[in-house]
Amino acid sequence: MLTDRMRLRILVRGAVQGVGFRPFVYRLAKEMGLMGYVLNDTGGVEIEVEGEKELLEEFFYRLTSEKPPLARIHAIESQFLEPVGYEDFTIKESQGAGNKQVFILPDMSVCEDCLKELFDPSNRRYMYPFINCTNCGPRFTIIERLPYDRPNTTMKVFQMCPECDKEYHDPKDRRFHAQPNACPECGPWLSLYSGKGELLEERNGALELVAELLKEGHILAVKGVGGFHLMCNALEERVVSLLRERKRRKEKPFAVMFRNLEQLLEYAEPTSLEKALLLSPERPIVLVRSKEKLAPSVAPSLKRVGAFLPYSPIHYLLLNALDFPLVATSGNFSEEPIVKDNEEALTKLNCLADFILAHNRDIKRRCDDSVVKVVGGFPLPVRRSRGYAPMPITLPFKLRRKVLAVGGMLKNTFALAFEDKVFISQHVGDVENLETLRAFEQMVYDLMELYEFEPELVVCDMHPRYETSRWARHFAEEKGLKLMEVQHHFAHILSCMAENALEAQVLGIAWDGTGYGEDGTLWGGEFLEVSYEGYKRLFHIKPFKLLGGEKAVKEPRRVALSLIFELYGDKAFELELPPVRAFSERELHNLYVAWKEGINSPYSSSAGRLFDAVASLLDIRHVISYEGQSAMLLEDLYKPSVKDYYPFEVSNLQIDWRPTFEALIKDRDKEGIPSRFINTLAHVCAHVAKEAGMERVCLSGGVFQNDPLVSKIKELLEAEGFKVFLHQKVPTNDGGICLGQAVYGGLKEV
Ligand code: ZN
Ligand code: ZN
Ligand code: FE
Repeated sequence: MLTDRMRLRILVRGAVQGVGFRPFVYRLAKEMGLMGYVLNDTGGVEIEVEGEKELLEEFFYRLTSEKPPLARIHAIESQFLEPVGYEDFTIKESQGAGNKQVFILPDMSVCEDCLKELFDPSNRRYMYPFINCTNCGPRFTIIERLPYDRPNTTMKVFQMCPECDKEYHDPKDRRFHAQPNACPECGPWLSLYSGKGELLEERNGALELVAELLKEGHILAVKGVGGFHLMCNALEERVVSLLRERKRRKEKPFAVMFRNLEQLLEYAEPTSLEKALLLSPERPIVLVRSKEKLAPSVAPSLKRVGAFLPYSPIHYLLLNALDFPLVATSGNFSEEPIVKDNEEALTKLNCLADFILAHNRDIKRRCDDSVVKVVGGFPLPVRRSRGYAPMPITLPFKLRRKVLAVGGMLKNTFALAFEDKVFISQHVGDVENLETLRAFEQMVYDLMELYEFEPELVVCDMHPRYETSRWARHFAEEKGLKLMEVQHHFAHILSCMAENALEAQVLGIAWDGTGYGEDGTLWGGEFLEVSYEGYKRLFHIKPFKLLGGEKAVKEPRRVALSLIFELYGDKAFELELPPVRAFSERELHNLYVAWKEGINSPYSSSAGRLFDAVASLLDIRHVISYEGQSAMLLEDLYKPSVKDYYPFEVSNLQIDWRPTFEALIKDRDKEGIPSRFINTLAHVCAHVAKEAGMERVCLSGGVFQNDPLVSKIKELLEAEGFKVFLHQKVPTNDGGICLGQAVYGGLKEV
C-alpha cells in the first residue's frame, strides 16, 4: 500500500562527525530496506529516509540506540513529510554553508581494533605509527576548518594510496571516511634529528634508534598528538634530574607514561576508579598513589605520581621497545606554551633534548595532556585539555547572547558560549608573560574562527592586573563590544552551579590561593550566597597580612610569620618556631616593622595561604617552587584515623583563625597536625553551612583539589542533610572559572 509510505527527515546535532555516523546510518538504512540519503553539513548530520511509517519509527529508534561508540547526540529533530520517491540510499557530499553547530571531537586514543593491527605482522599497517580509524585517532588537533573532511585537516597533503582510498570509500569498512586514514605507503612518517638538526633516521628505523637512545639515558623530544613531549627513563635519577635542570623546573612533578596497566601496577597503586580513568579513551594523566620506586626527581617529596598510558600509536611502539616507564612532560621551557611545530622543536627544544623525534603530520593547534584526580570519590579534572576539549558543557537554560569569557590568569582556559552550550578551550597555561599571552590570543582567535563565532559580549576577571583582563579590555574596545568584569570567587561558584545544572540559590564555598575582591583586598576564603543574578559575601576567613605581597605567595614562611606576629606581637622574636628561625635577625626586624606599619603587606582572606602557613610551621616547606605545593605535601600527611580538630571562632561574619593557630602551634603531636588542621577547615565549612541554612552547597576553588578536605566536608555536611556539589567537568582551580564568567555574562540583563 503506497499510502503507508512516508518520508522522515532527521537532523542530528552533537559529536556526530568523524565517528562513523554516516556509514552507520547507511548500513542501518540498507539493512532495513529504506531509501533516502545521509549528509554531513556544518549543522550536524542530515538524514532523509523513505519507507513504511512503522519502519521509519523503528529506524529512528535504532538510530539513537545503536549509534557508534564515539558519537554523542545533543539534539535530534525529526519531521514526517510527503515521500519524494527515492530509489536508493546514498551518502551525499558535504555542504559548506550553514550555522556551525557541529561539535568537533576531541583527540581519542588508538582503539582496540587498530592496536591489534598495529602489532599484527601480517597486517599492512604493522608497526605503523599513524594507524587510526573512524573510532579513534586525532581530531581537534588536525582540523583546520569545518566541516570535518580530509581537505580541511592537516592530512590534506597526503594523497591516499588505492588501498586506503578503497577503505575510505567503502561504507562497510571501519575506515570509511576516517579523515586521517593513512598507511606506510601513503601517510606521514617519523624523522629523527640530532640536537644540531641533522636528520639521522626516518620511518621505523627512527623508532629503533630512539629506543636505543632512551636506553642509553638520553633525553628526547617526541612529537605526539597535541605537541612535543620531553621523554626520558623514569627510573634513572641522573637523567631525570638533568631534565629538571635543563627545563628549569625545580620540583613540580613530572608525569610518567607506562607501557600498560600491568607495568603501571609495579610502580603505583591506582584504585578501581583511577584504573578506569587511566584506561578511558581520553587517556588523561591520573594522579595515583606511588610505590616510590621511580627516580626521586620524578615527583619530589610527593606520595602521588601523575601516571598515564600510551594514547598515540607512536607511544605504544616506543614503550613496547623498552622495559622501563618514561617521564613524559610537555616540550617547553617552564612557563611557556607547549611546542607543536617541527621547526620550533628543532630551534627551541634542542636546548632541552639531545634528540628530536618529529613527524610530518602537522598539529594545527596545541593541546596539552589532561590531568585528573579522584577527589571526594569523584573524578576531578585538574587540567581539562586533550581528550576532553573542545566538548561543550550543556547548560540547563539558554543564554541571551554570545559570550567570549577569557578566564583567569593561572591555568587559563577561555570559553565561547551561545544558546545552551559553553565551549571551553584546551589548557592555555599561566598567562604571565609575553609568550603565553601571545599563545592565549592566538588560541582565542583560532577557536572563534573555527566556530565562526562573533561574540556580543566579553567577560573577564575583576583583577586589574590579570593579563587576560587587560587583553579583554583592549579587545572589547577594538571591536566595540561591551565588557563585563566578574568577581573571581563568584565566577568559581557559578561555574560549579552551571556544570551541576543547578538553578536555585546556593551556598558557595570558594577557597583558593588568591582572587581580587570587590573591596580591593585579596580574597580566597569566601562563603557566598550565590544565584545567577548575583552574590552576597556572607562569611569569610579573617583577613591577615601578606608580608611582602606577591613574595608571600612563593614563601609560606612569610604567611606563617604574619600569623605569629598577629598572635604574639614582638614576643615572636623569642619563639622557637620554624618560620621564625627561617629568617635572619635583621629580616625578622624589618618584617615586623612592615607588618606593624602595613608596608607592602596587603590583606588577604585566603584559605590556600593558611595551608602555606601550616607547612612552614611544621618545618616542611618555607619556600615553595610551584603553586599548591604546601597543600599537596600536607594532603599526603593526612591520617583518616585522626578525628579531632582545633577550635575556631566565628564573629562579625569572619572565621577567626587565631584560636586554631594558637592550638596548632602548641600541639605536641606533630604527626597529627596536618589531619587536625584539615579537619578544622571541614568543621568551619559545616558550621557556616548550618548558619547560612541553604540546602545546596557548592565547593569551588583550587583548595578543593584536596581529597581529604573535600571528603571530610562531604561527610560532615551530608550527615546534616546538606547536598554538596563538586566539580566533575571543569577544574575547580582557575582553569574552570571561564565557565562561570560565560554564564553570568550570557544571562545578565544589560
Ligand atoms: Zn581505531
Ligand atoms: Zn595508504
Ligand atoms: Fe581561583
